[in-house]
Parts: sequence; C-alpha cells; structure tokens
Amino acid sequence: MQLESRLAQIGSQEDPATGAVSYPIYQATAFRHPRLGQSTGFDYARTKSPTRSVLEAAAADLESGDAGFACSSGMAALTTIFALFCQGDHLIVSLDLYGGTYRLLEQILSRYGISASYVDTNDMDGLESLCTEKTKAVLIETPTNPLMMITDLEKVSAWAKRHNLLTIVDNTLLTPFLQRPLELGADIVIHSATKYLGGHNDVLAGLIVTKGEELSRKMGVLHNSLGAVLGPQDSWLLMRGMKTLALRMERHQANAQRIAEWLHEHPAVEDVYHPGLPHHPGHDVQKRQSSGNTGIFSFRMKDARTVEPILRHLKLIAFAESLGGVESLLTYPAVQTHADIPAEIRRKVGVDDRLLRFSVGIEHVDDLIADLGGAIEAALQEIGEA
Ligand SMILES: *Cc1c(COP(=O)(O)O)cnc(C)c1O
Repeated sequence: MQLESRLAQIGSQEDPATGAVSYPIYQATAFRHPRLGQSTGFDYARTKSPTRSVLEAAAADLESGDAGFACSSGMAALTTIFALFCQGDHLIVSLDLYGGTYRLLEQILSRYGISASYVDTNDMDGLESLCTEKTKAVLIETPTNPLMMITDLEKVSAWAKRHNLLTIVDNTLLTPFLQRPLELGADIVIHSATKYLGGHNDVLAGLIVTKGEELSRKMGVLHNSLGAVLGPQDSWLLMRGMKTLALRMERHQANAQRIAEWLHEHPAVEDVYHPGLPHHPGHDVQKRQSSGNTGIFSFRMKDARTVEPILRHLKLIAFAESLGGVESLLTYPAVQTHADIPAEIRRKVGVDDRLLRFSVGIEHVDDLIADLGGAIEAALQEIGEA
C-alpha cells in the first residue's frame, strides 16, 4: 500500500472490539493478568502501553524498520540511542548539527567518556581520517539544519558497514514520506516528531526506528530502562497529526520551493540554501535518495543590520524557534537554535549573524511572500538602503 494510505489509516483498524476509527487513548499504567503466567501482552505502561504501541508499529512500518520506540522528545530519543555506547566509544557526527544534539554530546555524554568528532559526512576522506578502532557509529543529519547540506546515505552507510559502524540518521526534516534511510542502508532512524510528524506545534515527541532483531531488542531494553517514553495522550495526538503528513509535506514543499526561488532573485539576499535550487551542491544526491524536499531552508542577507528589523516587521510569519508546523516560523539560528555551538564552529559551518532559517508553513504562498517581502523592504528603509 502507498504511504499516503498507510498514513491516513494509522490506528484505524487496530480496535476490532469497538471498531473505533480513531484509536482510543488507554490511560492505564497497570494491566490485569488473567492468571499466573498469563498476560494480555501489557503489564506496566513504561514497558508497553496500547496507544503508544499502535504509534510505534506505524513508525516502524513507515520507515521500513523492524521496531519503533516512542519517546518523550527528540532529545529523549537521542539519549536512548546514545545509551547503546560505552565509556571510551567514539562517534562521528555531521558537522552542521542540531544544536541540542551537539549540547547532549559535548556537555553530557563527554562526561561518560563517549566522544564525538564533527565532519562534513559527505567527505569520505574526512570520515576515513576520523575513524579509529574506538569509533562505533556515524550520526547523520541530511539535510542538515540550518544549512541544508546533503549526505549520500547509500555511500556513507556502505562505508560504515565496512568499518563495522552503526549508521544513525536524524530524519526529522524529511520524514518517511520523503526519505527512508533504512532502505538506503542505515541501522537506526531518529525523529524529533515534535516537528513535521506532529505537524501542528502542539506535541513534543521523539521516535526511534531500528532495523535488525538484535539491535531492536537492545533498543527495547534501553527504552524501558531509561523510561523516557511517550504518554498515551501525546501518542494519540502524534498519530492524529501523522494522518495528514502527506498532504502537509506536499504543501510545505511547494511553498518553500516558490519562496526560495523568489528570495534567490531578491537583491537584498546574498544566498539561499535549498536543495531544490539547481546551484545547491546537494541537489543531485537529494533528488536521487528522496522523493522531495522539506519545507525548511535558510538564506543569508547581504547586510546583518537588516535582520533585527525584518524580524520586527513580520506580521504573519512568527519569529519563533521550531520548525515543521503548519504555521510559518522564522528563526535566527546564531542566537536561537545554535546558540550552544561555539562561535568558532558556527562560523566554520556558516551559521553567522546574517543567516535566517525559514520553516515554511501551509499558508497561501502569496501571503507569505507579501509578508516577508514587506518586512525586507521596511528593514532596508530603516537602515537607509532603500
Ligand atoms: C528539534 C530537533 C531535535 C530535538 O527534538 P525535540 O523534540 O525538540 O527534543 C533533534 N533533531 C532535529 C533535527 C531537530 O530539529
């Protein structure tokens, strides 16, 4: 069955007792056993809970994996995954990385003796030079956030397999509707489901999907042991959001492409980072390994003085720190999402004081262009450049 149909039908056939089309919220934390040695399959809700189970099965199915695990946030999902590793282990990680993941690695995991090196994960020589006998995994974001760098997942996961490393992919920006890393050779997919999967800026959640029996079993033990699991209400809310994922992604993608092309021609804009633009270095790989582009892209203004007035003059687009919801948000990565990354590394990857990240919503594209265009004009007037 096509993804659109599987998405729309999440949970709708899972409750034969009542025929409920929307799967019920089972709030119970304890489950009665019929007799000694028997179980309904549910014992205690941290280990397994009915509403969360339906979501987890859907996640595994959509990502072509063997098991799904729903966590209380994307960071909880990453923490659970990182618990696979031991003191002394080393990870290779995408250079242009979500700030929270960087903070988790540098401020927390480093204290447990787990180290990370950062590299452009498309640079095979760079990967090779960082790989030692202590290296256990490569963690990839593609596209990266905010600079939309693309990694060839087939190539890098094949390289990782040759070196006995796990390939972990943060698939938050594209979702399984547009890209399925496990089909390209990855072992683990992680999502901040707070973003596109939930889609409405109203539920915080994370998902892990694993491939392979042994890895799935290990992840199940970690998920239950660490306990950063998703509650039944949020599991339900996430499934309800996921039902419309296909429709939303199509609109996000179309709006973002139009606006990126418009900004690319705008005289006050220096550059636009969007893999759907032919000049983007990842354009061809992205086209090959995914069925479309996300609704996020970044752009660099020519003059840093325009940034503050642009953010102040926006009326429809919110100046806010998140992405992937139906509402359009503009983020200033250097002071918001990437503030925890040292200035020197930020500069190296290009997250400077002229860079803005746009999470394009599903509003009418003409309204979005009018709002952003008006704010840019007002900003240029204020700095005396118009
Ligand atoms: C937001 C985000 C996270 C963290 O997820 P939370 O749900 O906020 O904990 C991880 N990776 C990426 C790419 C994200 O955008």
